[in-house]
Amino acid sequence: MHDRKSAPFEDYLHELLESLKPLDAGEVASYIPELAKASPDGCAISFATIDGEVYSVGDSETLFSIQSVSKPFAYAGALMRLGQEALLKKVGVEPTGDAFNSIVLDEVNNRPFNPMVNAGAIAVSALSEGDSQSERWAHVVDLFSRFAGRRLTHDNSVFLSESATGHRNRAIAYLMLNTGMIDRDPEEVLDLYFKQCALLVSTPDLALMGATLANNGVHPRTGEVLLGPAEVRDVLTLMMSCGMYDYAGEWSYEVGLPAKSGVSGGVLAILPGQLSIAVWSPPLDEIGNSVRGIAACRRISGDFGLHQFMNAATVETVVRRETRASAQPSMRIRNPRERDLLATHGGQIGLVELQGALYLASAERMIRQLQDLTSSVSHLVFDMRRLRSVDAAAQRFFESFLRGLADRNVEVAFAEVHSAGGAAAPVLTKIAEACAIRVFTNVDGAVEVYEERLLETVREPFDATRYGLGNLELFKGLNRAQLRMVEAMIQPMQFEANDYVLRRGRPGTMAFVIARGSVSVMVPNASGDNIRVACIGPGQFFGEMAVLEGGLRSTDIVADEKVVCYGLSAEHLKELSVSDPEAHSVILTNMVLEFSNRLRRSNDIIGSLQ
Ligand code: GLU
Repeated sequence: MHDRKSAPFEDYLHELLESLKPLDAGEVASYIPELAKASPDGCAISFATIDGEVYSVGDSETLFSIQSVSKPFAYAGALMRLGQEALLKKVGVEPTGDAFNSIVLDEVNNRPFNPMVNAGAIAVSALSEGDSQSERWAHVVDLFSRFAGRRLTHDNSVFLSESATGHRNRAIAYLMLNTGMIDRDPEEVLDLYFKQCALLVSTPDLALMGATLANNGVHPRTGEVLLGPAEVRDVLTLMMSCGMYDYAGEWSYEVGLPAKSGVSGGVLAILPGQLSIAVWSPPLDEIGNSVRGIAACRRISGDFGLHQFMNAATVETVVRRETRASAQPSMRIRNPRERDLLATHGGQIGLVELQGALYLASAERMIRQLQDLTSSVSHLVFDMRRLRSVDAAAQRFFESFLRGLADRNVEVAFAEVHSAGGAAAPVLTKIAEACAIRVFTNVDGAVEVYEERLLETVREPFDATRYGLGNLELFKGLNRAQLRMVEAMIQPMQFEANDYVLRRGRPGTMAFVIARGSVSVMVPNASGDNIRVACIGPGQFFGEMAVLEGGLRSTDIVADEKVVCYGLSAEHLKELSVSDPEAHSVILTNMVLEFSNRLRRSNDIIGSLQ
């Protein structure tokens, strides 16, 4: 049974093919006698996506000679090998407005007008790599095979037929020899050019060759990098301005896609960044373009609004959210005094979450949008996880924006750079290096560091090992005798950095109060990674949930540094409820108060995420 990959696409192509059938105008090319043998009814359409999916309808297994659709690819090969500057000395980039086989040359610049007409393509063939004719041909076959993603062969009868009758091309080659535009034996050059034109392809082959151009020069199936972005740009530009013979102007006006057609009835159109369209139908109009090929592309472009100037992306804001640490503090559990201090001063830490693509106009808008926030903070954290790309223009403006912030002593951090889109992450790393920006794995880590920085300026560090138990939140309100009783019950313990203090799933028998150092609360997320959801520091307690419920630990708790803490076992707590119910109730009340604070904080975070 036929495997339907994407039914809407296939249905569209079938319907398109049916709509082309009644178009019976045009003549099959006969100036190359062998081409006249093609069936006028043969017709195929293929779409190839930039990830290598090919959809085909009609005679998509029929092989036909590639003819002039080879020209952009031969030019692409020469560009890669010789570079733009050297190539421009030999072939221009100016549309001619004349027929494909025009014998008119640009004698002012002593080069053919462009590589999409015969003269230019023959000049490109004259630049072929290799010391012998067979080596040069091997290079040509290799180049085209790489673009197609499979080994191509040529149709020798088409080659011989053109070689025997291609006197006009012969005249062009000799004229170029005469003016020094080519400097090799014209017969050898023509031999290569005619054979290149006789390479056999199907519409799926052509579509994949085109998809390589749509995919920035990377073959969608083999992954081979055949062209760089600059070469792709050059080739597509020439296809847009010169690819459709002397119909190029009208084509750009109406269809608006870079394309190339050939006398055997092939048309290849590119939708950069998305897909390519290959059509084959031999009957040609007077200009030499496939009648059905043109009709198909006009319809596809019209149906989907593909004209390149119709789809200008409108600028969308890249600022997904801007807030401050006073509204969205770090996960670190704070004591009441720290909480108050951060509620007052946390506004100095700005948080910005970016999304989408940063380019000239969206970077301009971002900088403008962040003006208020950046003028009132001392620290700024950028969450990059949803940023998709940063182009060269945006990089430049982002860097100068960051330098401006540094001049005003605003300290900036980037977070989640590693989770940004593949096109954004390396550029962000470069920006961070260029502007001496600190990069944090996650936003919370950055916010916490900046909060600590703020707190250092306003509070004394708290080290409960230097104070009595009564200073700990959990034991506030106990009298001396009760504190002494608690002191006899608790068990001092010490952990080194990265030690597990608690493990998820183990039975919980003890609650802990931290005297010195801090621990992190780790919870697995949907993809199974352990993420840090809270940080608990001196004076705070943890591990009480399992003790109260008598159940299993719900999280891992890991020491961030050297940690000193006191353990209070469930059994001791129970004993206390009998021996001193009042002390027991003070401790439970303290726990409940802290719980309600933590819940409030969680609610604030949930609220700020909406
Ligand atoms: N081999 C053909 C020629 O040079 C190619 C022409 C074309 O497809 O435009 O006449």
